Amino acid sequence: MLKVTKFGGSSMADAGQYRKVRSILEADPARKVVIVSAAGKRDKKDHKITDLLYLTYAHTQYGVDYSRIFDMIYDRHIQIRDDLGVDLNMERELKDIRVRLDEKSISQDELVSRGEYLSAKLMAAFLDFEFVDAADWIRFNLDGSVDRETSYELLRRRVGKKGIVIPGFYGVMPDGHIRTFSRGGSDITGALAAAALDADVYENWTDVSGILMADPRIVENPQAIPQVTYDELRELSYSGAQVLHEGTIFPVREKNIPVNIRNTNAPMDPGTMIQESFDSPIDPDRFITGITGKKNFSIISMSKRGMSNEVGVLRKLLTVLERHNISIDYAPNGIDNVSVVMPTESIEPCLYQILDEIKRDVNPDTLDVHDQIAVVAAVGRHMAYRPGISGKIFAALGKAGINIRMINQGPDELNIIFGVDNKDFEAAIRVLYNSFAK
Ligand code: ADP
Ligand code: ASP
Ligand code: MG
Repeated sequence: MLKVTKFGGSSMADAGQYRKVRSILEADPARKVVIVSAAGKRDKKDHKITDLLYLTYAHTQYGVDYSRIFDMIYDRHIQIRDDLGVDLNMERELKDIRVRLDEKSISQDELVSRGEYLSAKLMAAFLDFEFVDAADWIRFNLDGSVDRETSYELLRRRVGKKGIVIPGFYGVMPDGHIRTFSRGGSDITGALAAAALDADVYENWTDVSGILMADPRIVENPQAIPQVTYDELRELSYSGAQVLHEGTIFPVREKNIPVNIRNTNAPMDPGTMIQESFDSPIDPDRFITGITGKKNFSIISMSKRGMSNEVGVLRKLLTVLERHNISIDYAPNGIDNVSVVMPTESIEPCLYQILDEIKRDVNPDTLDVHDQIAVVAAVGRHMAYRPGISGKIFAALGKAGINIRMINQGPDELNIIFGVDNKDFEAAIRVLYNSFAK
């Protein structure tokens, strides 16, 4: 039995958190492979080490003195080491980084990767596990994807009987330079390690007791979702629930390894299991798995009488958007009308040109733009088996006086997506949660 465990920034924030990690590992000898993030915030006002490292690099670019920020990074790691009482020459590690900064011989990616590197060094010494650098096994291809076969083989060769600690978030390019994943990417390192070692489960330890039915910053104390399929998770994270990095699922799904999201601060909570499918019977009262969403979308709507009988209207509309390199999120349509929905940020710079080209190429009867739109998604695999769900959702929103600006239901019936005004976003999520989640 092998459990690969990843601990996020809040689980690495101070010595007290390191001790919680150790108790979690000691509670189960199968937890032999540990991936760590850089130290995160100790409280709301604190800074994440990764943010401080990005800030340091920005200072070097503008030729501004970065000593004060670097000192914060320095002190934080020395303090964790001293509080834990481990024997490790952190001063030397930190001074090496400082020298390379002063010499301007360190890239941004390498500098920010040092947050996880230092965490992993500390954690390995504290646990008496072996430190295995991600630079020794995660290999990127030139296009930025991961060479999984080579990486997996390299990791397998490094693993022996002893437990190991791996820094998350980075690997190396074919020329040996360090490259990071996008923000939150330590989740991917954990998934790659789990896949390489054919783990029985990939445990992702964070600061909430699983994926919650709604964003805890909007709904007070939302319930955790006990079971989520990989497909539902994709829908949930695409539409806004950013608990796991979206690159996490592919490596584990390919090897059929379940992911268990757990809370370092409440280790007895079962958290959320994520896997291909579940045998458990469908609870007739629970058709929504989760509710998520994002703000700041724009909708371009056009109508044209007889459109459904005219060949090529949709293609012409999409061609205009393609010319401007705009990728659309949703395209709900009726008999004589169609809308396209995308983030305002992506369309703003060329909006008027796009509208002109639509008028010229498609010649619609009406053409409107709405912005300040939020997209809300109700996701659930059980929705497919239940008639009348959209009706129930819209009735609840109507009763609360929330105006619906757009509706889109995916053909796989995993989600119902609708648009509301930005100002109604939080209220819409709360209405859905209170109507259907309990
Ligand atoms: P880590 O540092 O452990 O990787 P993250 O900050 O990346 O943790 O992810 C956990 C956070 O995601 C939670 O603290 C919570 O604020 C936020 N979050 C947003 N939406 C959800 C949701 N639907 N369920 C759980 N957490 C959510
Ligand atoms: N430390 C990195 C970040 O803050 C990676 C991670 O935590 O997953 O984005
Ligand atoms: Mg994260």
